[in-house]
Amino acid sequence: MDDTQSGTRNKRGDWTPSATLEVAPFWQKPRHLRQILAWIPEYLWPWNAFHMSTALLYWFFVIPDVATMQTLSWGWALWLYAVNAAAIFVMYGSIELFWYVKRKQGNRFKYNAKFPGEQPSDVFWFKSQNIDNFLRTFGFSIPLWTLVQVGMLYAFANGYAPWLAWADHPIYLAVLVLLCPAIQEIHFFCIHRLIHVPIFYKWIHSVHHNSVNPSPWSSLSMHPVEGLLYHAVCLWHLVIPSNPVIALFQLHIAGFGAVNGHIGFDKLEITEKTALDGHAYAHYLHHKYFEVNYGGDGLIPLDKWFGSWHDGSKSGDAQMQARFEAKKARLNAKRA
Ligand SMILES: [Zn+2]
Ligand SMILES: [Zn+2]
Repeated sequence: MDDTQSGTRNKRGDWTPSATLEVAPFWQKPRHLRQILAWIPEYLWPWNAFHMSTALLYWFFVIPDVATMQTLSWGWALWLYAVNAAAIFVMYGSIELFWYVKRKQGNRFKYNAKFPGEQPSDVFWFKSQNIDNFLRTFGFSIPLWTLVQVGMLYAFANGYAPWLAWADHPIYLAVLVLLCPAIQEIHFFCIHRLIHVPIFYKWIHSVHHNSVNPSPWSSLSMHPVEGLLYHAVCLWHLVIPSNPVIALFQLHIAGFGAVNGHIGFDKLEITEKTALDGHAYAHYLHHKYFEVNYGGDGLIPLDKWFGSWHDGSKSGDAQMQARFEAKKARLNAKRA
């Protein structure tokens, strides 16, 4: 595929998409019905449909029966850890293998021309971004994901949270399913903005930001406090009346969906003519500039409302620089 049709490459070889990032069409003014209708399939397919399919597969083939989950035990907790770890190994690992190790599409559509494997750095364990990110993912983040999952299922199994049946509340539950990506975006924005407060950043979030040029293994490479807060998004379903399948869907949007911001490629070429949209650019800009795009793709455009949105354009750059200058001036005024 020719990536020069939809973007430009600078002297360093970094590729930038020509299209700027746009918030979801119902937030844009004027609103165009046609744009909104065109956005719906993109919203559902492929990523949210994928997360729902894995949630259903888990529910029918992985999650133990309710009687087992009424008692906490290592048996079913370790089983869930094993499945979560295997699923992440296969999903993230295949993107790493084909796009980062075998480099099947070279650096076409790749924002940063360099590959993390080529850049050893002291900030990482064993000086390797890949090894560091891999160990943190399987050693901290997936165990914490599993801990949250076990807690959520235990609460549902014991009746500590309202468990609505599909047969009794089909419309309400269907609407809740459609809202899950928005819940993820709001939850992620809030915890993410919090851990960017300097003291928490240094202690917690800098671990994730060591990967300035992220790859799939960077997605869940987090300090344990961040790993816990991040996956805790599914616990909202113990507060709002819900159903464990929807809570699992919410958890999968977080756990499996973390890869989206860290794919590093705008498009993953599947065949010569078809490509998968990575939805990676907004969060790639966050890794590049740190203080922009704390949320996601603009489904709920909190960054736009709070002035931290960067759409990838020159004017987005200028707005960011103006914000940095204003912040510097404020800090200097405080010191004087
Ligand atoms: Zn990230
Ligand atoms: Zn961050």
